[in-house]
Amino acid sequence: MTQILSEVYLDYSDILIRPKMGINLNSRKDVNLQRLFKFKHGQTRTGLGVFNANMATVGNFIVAKKLLQKGMFATIHKHYTVDEIGKFFLDAKQENVPLDNLFVTIGLKDIDGQIQKLKELESGYGWKSPRNICIDAPNFYIQKALDVLARVRQEFPDAVIMAGNIASSDICLKLLDYADIIKCGIGSGSACLTRKQTGCGTPMVSLILECADIAHSVGGHICADGGIVDVGDICKALCLNSDFVMAGGMFAGTDEAEGQIIEKNYETSEMFDGKHVIQTKCFKVYYGMSSEYANNKFAGGMGNYKTSEGRELLIPYTGSIDKILQDITGGIASCCTYIGAASVKHMSKCATIIQVHNQLNKVFEKYSV
Ligand code: 5GP
Repeated sequence: MTQILSEVYLDYSDILIRPKMGINLNSRKDVNLQRLFKFKHGQTRTGLGVFNANMATVGNFIVAKKLLQKGMFATIHKHYTVDEIGKFFLDAKQENVPLDNLFVTIGLKDIDGQIQKLKELESGYGWKSPRNICIDAPNFYIQKALDVLARVRQEFPDAVIMAGNIASSDICLKLLDYADIIKCGIGSGSACLTRKQTGCGTPMVSLILECADIAHSVGGHICADGGIVDVGDICKALCLNSDFVMAGGMFAGTDEAEGQIIEKNYETSEMFDGKHVIQTKCFKVYYGMSSEYANNKFAGGMGNYKTSEGRELLIPYTGSIDKILQDITGGIASCCTYIGAASVKHMSKCATIIQVHNQLNKVFEKYSV
């Protein structure tokens, strides 16, 4: 019989972190944003657990470099060639960009070819320990995904492996036999159409709670992927015990994201000389990796058995990524001072989460400049 689970599953907009008296932190400068991660399969890494999404738009070299320089983690998307990645490694070394927290993404298609690609990176460009692999599939519930994961672990026993995406805790233990980090989140992404097209998905807050619980019980880690609207959502994910957070849309309007700046003219309601004043606004294109646009670009078109589970968006241009990265580190540090957490590692222990009906005051939203 089909069952309906009646417990309400919550999303970021359904909760807030309640400030409280904790240890006495005088300034956000005193907060330790770096965390030591001891992974299930033996490796350790240190950094602030924030990733850029492994999408063609924001999983590029320039965005990755910026996050790594800021002490965060980063991914590069799966469509780069060996030589492009190799050149990035060489340039990064010359510019003193730390590569220990960089994840190279592969997909499920042509696994022999993908293993070969990683081996060529090893032999041609010295990609040896520490090295990290992100195995990306929109749906990790298929047997092929599990087979690929097992094979990659066998070929690269010393790598940190992040695998996903999933949207329930029942599969976590199975993945952690081979993976170190499970990427959680289906249907939450800003360029995603999965919930509309398939009706499938799980709200992020409840998902993080249930997956972190299972993963941490066996020494695994999780990454909350998709649905980050504001820096506060990153803080919420960390307080809920997610070890890592991945964001795409947040970085997609920046200079560093792929694509040109597009200018559009708008007629405003303001009049001058009997005519509407024209205003120019700048945008960048952000597209889902399952969108028709991405399928046309990378997979030679949509197969006739598929429906597009991603969309193409024109999103406001936001300038340099530096400002957003500063907002992220500043926002997390400030959150720690509100809850009395001396370090990111302690956020989940210190946080009290409250369920709310209204999260933000939006009264002047339409006047924002
Ligand atoms: P955002 O931070 O923009 O809310 O979400 C980014 C995440 O959306 C990605 O890391 C990935 O998990 C997911 N995503 C990217 N492209 C697509 C797509 O075309 N369809 C779906 N369903 N999810 C996508």
